[in-house]
Amino acid sequence: MSDRRVVTRFAPSPTGELHLGHVRSALEGWRAARQSRGRFLLRLEDIDRTRCRDDYAAAIVEDLLWLGLDWDGPVRRQSEHLDDYRGALDRLAAFGVVYPCFCTRREIAAEIAGAGGAPQGEAGPRYPGTCRRLSRVERTARQRRGHDFALRLDVARALALTGPLAWIEEAGGVPRPVAARPEMLGDVVLARKDTPTSYHLAVTVDDALQGVSLVTRGADLAPATHIHRLLQALLGLPTPHYRHHPLLTDAAGRRLAKRDRALTIRAMRAQGLRPADIIARAFAAG
Ligand code: GLU
Repeated sequence: MSDRRVVTRFAPSPTGELHLGHVRSALEGWRAARQSRGRFLLRLEDIDRTRCRDDYAAAIVEDLLWLGLDWDGPVRRQSEHLDDYRGALDRLAAFGVVYPCFCTRREIAAEIAGAGGAPQGEAGPRYPGTCRRLSRVERTARQRRGHDFALRLDVARALALTGPLAWIEEAGGVPRPVAARPEMLGDVVLARKDTPTSYHLAVTVDDALQGVSLVTRGADLAPATHIHRLLQALLGLPTPHYRHHPLLTDAAGRRLAKRDRALTIRAMRAQGLRPADIIARAFAAG
């Protein structure tokens, strides 16, 4: 057990019901906080108003309480803190590392296909950088004409400002430094025309604002940490330690799918499973 008091968080998006994978993430954080007499925070990542629902948010709170988890302080809802993200975005823009992107999803897919699928990052297809090459005049003209746009991070330019970066990874029990390679994800979206943040920006700002010192989440989010580390460096924010836990798999070694409704806490509860059974399952698998 570590002798530092850790501040951890569980940060689900209320776009559906909690499932076994969430139980693992929440428990990893809750145990680390309670064992070190630290703090465990609950944050609802509800920026995407088209997919997030209040009834899911209420169900998340109820499921966590039923599992026996408690948290410190009020629940933070990202949708109530847009000014925090807007401020961070303005600071990034002032460094000249943000540019408007007018491409539609379809255009991006066509461009990637046309280039022989070339800019394929380890973390999936990367944005090919089309709008990064637009002139200032062209950008302004398109914005004036009211074209829809997203704001993207110019990763190469940002890295030139920060130099090499790393974080401490605690997965597996032995902390080790991991070199950040944000170029693997390419120029990610930081905000949209009408929404002043994306997941990457909001999570980075919130972890710092809430004093989170250990981020526990599934290994599927490990690629995102490369970008979060870069944003921390640009914004002058502290870097938490990270523990990306293995993803849960079924008996055949297949990754458990979020859409498998049999694995929601509610479904398992309806089958008569108790909190301790569900928690044991969340740690037995994967
Ligand atoms: N909101 C994200 C999700 O539900 C998790 C974010 C995080 O833990 O960093 O997948």
